[in-house]
Amino acid sequence: HAEKKTIADHLRKYEALFTLSPQRMRMIVHAFEETLDKGLQKDGEIVPMIPTFVFGYPSGKETGEYLAVDLGGTNLRVCLVTLHGEGRFEVTQTKYRLTEEQKQDEGQKLFDFCAECLGSFITDNLGRTEKDEELPLGFTFSYPCSQERIEHGELIRWTKGFGAPNVEGHDVGAMFEKSLKKFNVRCKMTALINDTTGTLIASNYVDPNTKIACIFGTGCNAAYMEQAGNIPKMDELGLAPEQDMAINCEWGAFDSFDHQHLPRTKFDIIIDESSNKPGEQSFEKMIAGLYLGEVFRLVLTELIESGHMFLGQNTYKLEKAYAVDTAFLSLMESDPTDELLTVIGVFSYFFGLETTLEERVFFRDLAKLIGRRAARLSACGIAAIVSKKGYLEEGCAVGADGSLYNKYPGFADRIHEALVDIFGEKGKNIVTHHAEDGSGVGSAIIAAMTKSRK
Ligand code: ADP
Repeated sequence: HAEKKTIADHLRKYEALFTLSPQRMRMIVHAFEETLDKGLQKDGEIVPMIPTFVFGYPSGKETGEYLAVDLGGTNLRVCLVTLHGEGRFEVTQTKYRLTEEQKQDEGQKLFDFCAECLGSFITDNLGRTEKDEELPLGFTFSYPCSQERIEHGELIRWTKGFGAPNVEGHDVGAMFEKSLKKFNVRCKMTALINDTTGTLIASNYVDPNTKIACIFGTGCNAAYMEQAGNIPKMDELGLAPEQDMAINCEWGAFDSFDHQHLPRTKFDIIIDESSNKPGEQSFEKMIAGLYLGEVFRLVLTELIESGHMFLGQNTYKLEKAYAVDTAFLSLMESDPTDELLTVIGVFSYFFGLETTLEERVFFRDLAKLIGRRAARLSACGIAAIVSKKGYLEEGCAVGADGSLYNKYPGFADRIHEALVDIFGEKGKNIVTHHAEDGSGVGSAIIAAMTKSRK
């Protein structure tokens, strides 16, 4: 028999679990900074700090027409980007939804699908003939790849729920080119890039004060510019020490395996242990869009099991793993009505459950706790780069993209609030803003930069 606890008691308990104090955040920032340094020292570290072979920021003068293919966690996008120079551009794009089967099916088929979509995009939008020159293509592939050249990248491991066999350990650039040949797609793949690197370059093209880029979408990650002299693991390439190179941090892996630094709750542990990659991507699993709805759902499951919620109602729909999308949390947090009518709608329409006003207020408060924790952890990652690079005094802009950042109410404000908690008033010098489309525009600019280097 359930002991008598009020909803307010529950809320207090979860508040204690999900709240990060300024002091705790500073400890995380410190450990994070050390981890970033380690990744620059040698290969095979948990946070791999991948050199991208994107050499420095764009000049802003890059021009021309480029194709871009972006294999994200949720969608495949194909774009035609026209760069006009001086920070101006135009984009035409088509989106294709990826199915769960495609994410687990034979790897080469995934690239075949990308090539087929690109092929029909070119036919529909470009009207080019055999005589026309092939357009350069930037391929945005946002999974950790170790690179030896700009158009090469060996997949280290799948993230964000992907598991397609025979891709890990292979050069995805070569796999995609094989598919392009197979479907006779006329274009020249010139750059394989990560969405964070693309975002860094695209945001900097428009606002040169941008020094860091972050993605908060299905997964989470960041990129920034580092000098070769600070990347000991690249010494053998013999680059000039002051040569800039964009680093794809792959910071979602922070605190993986040993779990020493992040305050994981039992809900985070359940998510991790029942994922297809237990132990990995610890930071990402507490922040990203793929997981926040599931954290929320697991809390409700606990309350259902202990007999504190939905007594006498059929809760099977809510008991299905990943039944709660992070978008529901957004919806609940932005419900403007006193009665919380949106929350009523979400629960009755999607889960067939009736709710009291008191419960709905609790759900909204719980969403706030989970969303706020994600934003504060994100701020810790940003703060680690800021502190490492000494950007605090002069300040800098952080280009951010992804549905979580763009659509979750208050996500950016919560990051800014946390930066002040970490750094004091000076934290206000670090400002995030919605980034230019990195995986389209960024990959086009990088393709242009690559062309001019050759
Ligand atoms: P991707 O990272 O795959 O390129 P997105 O940036 O669109 O794509 O991120 C998709 C993720 O964002 C999904 O996990 C989804 O749950 C989450 N999401 C979608 N809409 C919203 C929303 N309105 N609020 C918060 N999260 C959302």
